[in-house]
Amino acid sequence: MPLPARVQTLVIGTLRGSLAAVATAAAVSMTGSMTGRSAQSPPTDAQLAALSTRTVALGATTSRRVEHVPVEVYVARVLSGEGEPNAPEATQHALAVAIRTYTVFNTGRHARQGFDLCDAVHCQVPRAAARDSARSAAVATAGQILTYRGAPAEIFYSASCGGRSEVAEAVWPGTSHPYLRARKDDVHDEDMPWMLEMSLAELQGHMERSGFSGTLTNVQIKGRTKSDRVSVLELSGMRPGRITSYQFRAAIGTTVLRSTAFSVKKKDERLQFTGRGYGHGVGMCVIGAGRRARRGESMSEILSAYYPGLKIERLAP
Ligand SMILES: [Zn+2]
Ligand SMILES: [Zn+2]
Repeated sequence: MPLPARVQTLVIGTLRGSLAAVATAAAVSMTGSMTGRSAQSPPTDAQLAALSTRTVALGATTSRRVEHVPVEVYVARVLSGEGEPNAPEATQHALAVAIRTYTVFNTGRHARQGFDLCDAVHCQVPRAAARDSARSAAVATAGQILTYRGAPAEIFYSASCGGRSEVAEAVWPGTSHPYLRARKDDVHDEDMPWMLEMSLAELQGHMERSGFSGTLTNVQIKGRTKSDRVSVLELSGMRPGRITSYQFRAAIGTTVLRSTAFSVKKKDERLQFTGRGYGHGVGMCVIGAGRRARRGESMSEILSAYYPGLKIERLAP
């Protein structure tokens, strides 16, 4: 989708003053339009709708109902689901920009089904109603998106990278962007590793439901990505004998095996997984964005750390 010519270009990390000025201008103009309301009152859906430059056709995966949601209302609803309610303002603003960017880039992703984005983890999961801090973050960043070479950027974000972000291509082959490389995220040093223990029989059951057959005797890591996440595993005793880490995680359950950044040990008839992070780890890490804001980083510093080289631009009305 081409950007309108009338955009205000703000380079992340170098024009922070201007960006803050834009955010303040948006907040001020909102306050001005809130007749009879105090400046502290959280924005209403009507006020978010007034700031929206487009509408998102949101498809419900269960009912197939399509809801037409003004983009800023949608951003606030997704932020309410993805972000921590008490996260610092800079985190909420960075997430709002990332969510809006994802939304604009992926508009029409479900065009064949008659809508833009679905309401499941395949796209983004919105809450039925936005919380107040998310509404305020949508207002403060209204219209701002990340761009690459003058167009909305293809970006991703996940819950926690665990200390090192993942290259986009490792998760979605063919998706190669210079701003989505594996990088150290220095806010995870205190993270405790997660542990998961599972019997060979239980894991074999998961594999059978994913089309594998045979008797599982061991699981070994056979390849790692540039960020040291697991790429391929060997399933001794099963056919096929190999599985990608993404299929493996999906087969076990993405909330059970929290990420592909793990090691595995066999002890008797049980497997012990020890790992870091939660989610695919590509792009911004929500936990890390929170910690960066707490140590004083601004919205643009956070975005610039996770998406180096992208610009923040404003969609024209
Ligand atoms: Zn979807
Ligand atoms: Zn991180």
